[in-house]
Order: sequence, then structure tokens, then C-alpha cells
Amino acid sequence: MTVRTRFAPSPTGYLHIGGARTALFSWAFARHHGGTFILRIEDTDVERSTPAAVQAILDGMNWLGLGYDEGPFYQMQRMDRYRVVLQQLLDAGQAYYCYTSPAELDALREAQRARGEKPRYDGQWRPEAGKVLPTPPADVKPVIRFKNPQDGVVAWDDQVKGTITFENSELDDLIIARTDGTPTYNFCVVVDDWDMGITHVIRGDDHVNNTPRQINILKALGATVPQYAHLSMILGDDGQKLSKRHGAVSVMQYDDEGYLPAAVLNYLARLGWSHGDDEVFDMAQFTQWFDLDHITPSAAQFNTEKLNWLNAHYLKQTDDAELAALVRTRLEKRGVTVSDTPALSSIVALYKGRVSNLNQLADEAEVFYLDLHPAQELLDTHLTPDVLPALKELAAGFAEVEWQAPAIASLIKQVLANHTLKMPKLAMPVRVMLVGQTHTPSVDAVISLFAREVVLARMGKYVG
Ligand code: GLU
Repeated sequence: MTVRTRFAPSPTGYLHIGGARTALFSWAFARHHGGTFILRIEDTDVERSTPAAVQAILDGMNWLGLGYDEGPFYQMQRMDRYRVVLQQLLDAGQAYYCYTSPAELDALREAQRARGEKPRYDGQWRPEAGKVLPTPPADVKPVIRFKNPQDGVVAWDDQVKGTITFENSELDDLIIARTDGTPTYNFCVVVDDWDMGITHVIRGDDHVNNTPRQINILKALGATVPQYAHLSMILGDDGQKLSKRHGAVSVMQYDDEGYLPAAVLNYLARLGWSHGDDEVFDMAQFTQWFDLDHITPSAAQFNTEKLNWLNAHYLKQTDDAELAALVRTRLEKRGVTVSDTPALSSIVALYKGRVSNLNQLADEAEVFYLDLHPAQELLDTHLTPDVLPALKELAAGFAEVEWQAPAIASLIKQVLANHTLKMPKLAMPVRVMLVGQTHTPSVDAVISLFAREVVLARMGKYVG
């Protein structure tokens, strides 16, 4: 059997983090088995589906690098096919026209509730052997209902949650086409999973209640029932259901916030799945390891700190030139012109081990290219009269010293010795004058990134 999985988002918002995890697991399962991963856009809710949301899904998948082998298929483009299958079920007596009007249905539900019963369709138009159906009223447009089995159970061995069983008596006859003939949600999913030869349905557990209905329709069609794996929901840092309140829930917002796709993927992979204690692994390793057996049935809790830790790790791992290109885009968006000196890749090399996202890296890099205006408070604190003579000597030395970190370091040492000062007394004001802050990598490394003239100019403003 060739594995075929699908990701089937409804384009009603952005691609959120839960959707991205579903996509990742479906993708990884197909990749692990050398199978096929399909993207299907479930856009039949015309009120809520938007082209912008479709684009957000495509962008998110693209950013994460989750390539699909088939699709995107759009359900709105498959209406003719759904009509054919509806007719097939009608012809086989597995679906029927129901003329109960909405008003009658309301009255029926009302009466059932009054009797303390669960509201459900009463099967008035359901054909049975020997049953005489009423004459269809001329003024009511019928819906089509699926003739659900009335006895027995429908059960499946969920790959995450174990065996799940529903009594057929709990399920009434589902409407599969509306009065205007358009197919309903569960029916489209069934026809698609069947037509697309899906072998494993990996999706959120908000669909558990749809599954028995979908299985019954698949069986009525003579289709092979796929395996189902229902993923538990993702909780926010605070243990509540993940929502907009938790800040970044859209995948592309993680991009805005400076996360690398590699970090987000690695993080998502561990959200409800594990391979021993392994925390850090790339997608090649993940697809090799991934299986459905190690998905936890309990809800996974989002942990921003861990994501930040992973992001810091991947930043360190990323090649300087590649990182520089990513930071350059961010700087240009901010309107910062990135010149050749200092080379952005050397700044990135010096700072990448000290930050946890690309925006922080861009913040660090930005001061090398902008006119700098250090905060007066920092200048007052660190450029005190007692260090001015030493700073003057240092600036004079900078005009002549060989422009390499080791030579710069020994010049600084020499000046410190001449004035019997400790390192911070000199390093702090130099940092403030050059980059406007007191926390930097070693000061000689920072100085040597700049062109000599820039250092002289930045210091010259205060140490004339
Ligand atoms: N379109 C559904 C959703 O976005 C997914 C349906 C499915 O995976 O079967 O929740």
C-alpha cells in the first residue's frame, strides 16, 4: 500500500499553529513511507472562505517548506463530482429526498425537547421496505439525507486515541445536500478522501464526532475506510486552549517575530510527538523517525521559552551568509541601508550566539549602519572626566594601530596600563560611543568590525 495523506484546511483565517502541526504530521507521515502528501482546500463555506485566507495557507506551507505532491485541490471546483456521487447514493437507495420543511423540523425538535428527548430527525421520509412514504409537497424543495444504518456500531482503531465506538442509533440521517443541491461538509470530505485514495487521515480531534458519519458514508459507497489519527489540541502557555489571546498563533506571525522555519518545525514536531528525549533534530531526521505510535493522546502545551531556545540554537547553526541575507531583508524593511563595511555577515557572525530571534539580530546590526545617537544618560554614566584622558589616548592610538582585533586589543591593554584603569572603565564608554549600548561581544571584536574612520568619527564627537 502506498501511503497517501492530506492536509485539508478550511480557508477562513490564517494558517494557525495547530493547522501547521497537522500539516507537518501528515507531510512527515507521507515522507516517512515514501508516500504522497496532498493539499486540499475545503472552501465550500462560501461566506467564510476568502482568497486571502487561501493565500495565507499557501504562504505558511511555503515558509515552512512543507511541499505537497498533489493539489491544491479546491472543493468548489469539484461540485460536479459531488453531484454524481449524490446521485449514485440516491440510485442505490442509500440516500433519499427529505421534504420536512425547516419549520416542521423546528416543531419536531421543540416537541422532542419538551419530552426530554435528544432532538433528531424522525425519519419521516426515510424509505423502508413496506413503508408507504407521504406524497412530496409541491412547495417544498427537498434536502438529501444519508440513510445511516440504524443498528450496530461504527468503530475505528484511532491511531492516536485507540478504539472509538459510536452506536449507530446515536446518529440520525445526515443531510448531505441542501435544498439548492449543494453538498454539505461531511459529504465533500468523504468523496474527496475516497477519490484521492487517502490511506491515513491525520487531523485535529475536533473532527472525532464527524468520523462515524464519514465512515458510514464511505462504507455505503463501497470505499476503503482510511486509518484515522486524531491529534489532540494544543494548549497555550497558560494551559488554556490556544487562541489569539496567546499572541502569535498564525504561522506567518512567527516569521514576523524573527523565528526561523527550522526552529518552528522542530518545535511543532515535538508538540505531541516524541522520540525518546530527542529535542533537536532537522526534518530529514524527523521524517525518518516519525510514526503515529508516539503521538500522545493528551493535549500538548505550548512553551514559548522552549521555542525561543530552539530558535537561538538554529540561529547559531545557520551559515553567516544565509543569516546575513535574512537580516538584510529585515533591515531594508526598516529603511536601513546596509553598506559593505562592516560586512553584515561579520556582524551576524559576532552576534548570532547572543540573540534568540532575527529581529534582535537586526537590532544589533542596525546600529552599525545608522547615524548613532547614544542616550545622554549612558554618556553621562560612562564618559566621566576621569576616563577622558585615557579615551583621548585610545582614539589617537586607533588612528594608527593595525586594524585587526588582536592589535586593537593590545592597544586597549596598553592604554589601560598607562592610566591604571580596569577594562570596564574604558570598554563601557567605547561601547556607548560606538553602538549606543553597554552589552556587546568583546569590545576589540566590535571595534574591528567598523572601518577605522567610523570609529574615529563616532568617538571624535565626544573625545575631540
Ligand atoms: N477542513 C477541516 C478543518 O479545517 C479539516 C477536515 C479534515 O481534515 O477532515 O478543520
